[in-house]
Amino acid sequence: MIVILLGPPGVGKGTQGALLAEGLGYTHLSTGDLLRQARREGTPLGREAQGYMDRGELVPDEVIVGMVREALGALGGKVILDGFPRTVGQAEALDEVLAEMGAAVDRVVLLEADDQVLLQRLSGRRSCPDCGAVYNVHFNPPREAGRCDRCGGTLVHRSDDHPETVANRLEVYRTQTEPLVAYYRRRPELVTAVAAERPVAEIQAELRRLLAG
Ligand code: AMP
Repeated sequence: MIVILLGPPGVGKGTQGALLAEGLGYTHLSTGDLLRQARREGTPLGREAQGYMDRGELVPDEVIVGMVREALGALGGKVILDGFPRTVGQAEALDEVLAEMGAAVDRVVLLEADDQVLLQRLSGRRSCPDCGAVYNVHFNPPREAGRCDRCGGTLVHRSDDHPETVANRLEVYRTQTEPLVAYYRRRPELVTAVAAERPVAEIQAELRRLLAG
């Protein structure tokens, strides 16, 4: 079962993906998390991705597709894709990679929220570099300020969540990623839009109903 979480930065893909993984036994595959890990480890991939990420631009398709191909090959069963695909080229490549594995995209969940809400969420977002958990100082704070509930790691404000970069990331989403909605709507049974301006638990309950049905 391959589920794509699609939506703009800050809409809650990471938070909801992690909860689905915990609750329904999916593997949560976030290309942003994989790239941040590669950066921390200083690998060639991480060094290549760094400049693009700091500017809020997309890392080139061939780099990302190679990384996802490798990751998917090592997984099986139920996978939540978060932050991938982000261009029509990536979506086409994903269809090919999955076809080689005898699989296909099963669901596309489109998470939707207004830009004002996204800006507020991104400014308050804090994430754990150790385990990938995501919090928000306004809406979903950790029990102890600055410390991850799950693993005790020290929370950070991602450098690309600062205002100048956020504006660019939203623009990149509108121009390069939003066309994916039309791409997947050509298979209308795949796509479900979910209103994502609601509390985390409410959205999660809807996603669980959707994926169970
Ligand atoms: P995210 O954590 O999903 O917001 O991703 C953070 C940054 O990583 C993005 O702004 C891009 O620079 C890069 N990135 C993550 N996923 C992709 C992707 N599928 N294609 C291109 N760049 C990506």
